[in-house]
Amino acid sequence: MARQEGLRHRVVIVGGGTAGISVAARLRRAGEDDVAVLDPSAQHFYQPLWTLVGGGRAPLKESVRPESSVMPQGVRWIQDAAREIDPDRQVVTTNAGVVVGYEYLVVCPGLQLDWGKVPGLADTLGRNGVSSNYTYELAPRTWEMVKPLRKGTAVFTMPSGPIKCAGAPQKIAYLAADWWRKQGSLAAIHVVLVLPTPAMFGVPEFSRVLDQVAKRYGIDVRLQHEMVEVNADDHEVVIADRREGADSKVSLHYDFLHAVPPQSAPDWIKDGPLADGTPLGYVAVNKHTHQHVRYPNVFSLGDAGNTPNSKTGAAIRKQAPVVVANLLATMAGKELPARYDGYASCPLTTARNKMLLAEFDYTMKPHPTFPFIDTQKERYDMWLLKRYGLPAMYWNLMLKGWA
Ligand SMILES: Cc1cc2nc3c(=O)[nH]c(=O)nc-3n(C[C@H](O)[C@H](O)[C@H](O)COP(=O)(O)OP(=O)(O)OC[C@H]3O[C@@H](n4cnc5c(N)ncnc54)[C@H](O)[C@@H]3O)c2cc1C
Repeated sequence: MARQEGLRHRVVIVGGGTAGISVAARLRRAGEDDVAVLDPSAQHFYQPLWTLVGGGRAPLKESVRPESSVMPQGVRWIQDAAREIDPDRQVVTTNAGVVVGYEYLVVCPGLQLDWGKVPGLADTLGRNGVSSNYTYELAPRTWEMVKPLRKGTAVFTMPSGPIKCAGAPQKIAYLAADWWRKQGSLAAIHVVLVLPTPAMFGVPEFSRVLDQVAKRYGIDVRLQHEMVEVNADDHEVVIADRREGADSKVSLHYDFLHAVPPQSAPDWIKDGPLADGTPLGYVAVNKHTHQHVRYPNVFSLGDAGNTPNSKTGAAIRKQAPVVVANLLATMAGKELPARYDGYASCPLTTARNKMLLAEFDYTMKPHPTFPFIDTQKERYDMWLLKRYGLPAMYWNLMLKGWA
């Protein structure tokens, strides 16, 4: 493709997902009139719904809208992918060879699903009883596989390292187990939940509730274990013991496997000048201000940033106003006024009509938003929030910069 030169904007946002659109909308509302969003995708996804799609509790179509419909008015959408950022020259080069100059940059292209890091997994996705709620295409396949299962072994896995929505690997296990319970077939299905962590959840208050949930369904929880290989022909998944000093692997037969892949920064970020130099390669920012640690005119948030919060849309809801306030202050040559405290929430669906809303911050202590409601319990009203309230809030308020 011919090389085009000459595009230049005061603020360029790389990635028009949850983070990028939230920031663009807030910048517009603050009166900033030269903003461009770079994103190749014609569609915008509300990924939290994929858990419910995989569990047969929501239609796939409610999780997607045209990207053009969420792009804030007055923001230029460059429908192309960033391939390289040169923060010294202050330019982004796209896949099509377009060079986009910026004064200020917000980097939020999300993360990369590393399917290839588990040998045998990529080739069998969507077939041979293997699915994953982590993509738009596969989430409905999960339900097609869960729905008819009446006996055998169902394995649900979570990889080590930070992933988006760390609760999602177990939420689908509970939705599926509750379905099988309702069909009277749970006793005939050996449900195995493979988690790399030493407990069900990083916050003890919520971990205790999840222990009881797993027990209620008779789930065989393998803590500090991780999927390392899939042999699709034999319907076997290899699980490694990650406990200190352990060096063993076991092969488990599966009739259904819900696999969550390891995750990291997109390779082009990892290999570029904004990365934090670790193998995961996320964008190196201050965990409170979201300003890049070497380039003050660069900010990052969402899944692509290296802030040690739980990678969720809920975290972005708190990060976006901080980024915008700090970006506007930087433009005005002022001190950075706003700080992010690590807030994230994880709506843990524990049954087909119950949810545990885990809210916490960098201190890893519960951080409840709702007064007078005990959110350390599974609740039906919280289920309604997850199914109806949060999607409405996302499309109508968050993406418009109101919440
Ligand atoms: C199954 C599942 C369940 C989840 N459940 C919850 C939940 O219950 N609650 C919750 O809060 N969060 C949940 N999440 C997490 C949440 O969806 C993400 O944390 C959030 O969407 C991240 O936003 P982001 O803007 O960083 O990335 P994304 O929303 O993924 O957007 C990234 C954007 O960047 C674009 N892009 C990619 N590469 C490039 C490039 N090279 N150049 C330009 N643009 C690029 C993409 O097209 C995309 O539009 C869940 C996620 C999954 C997968």
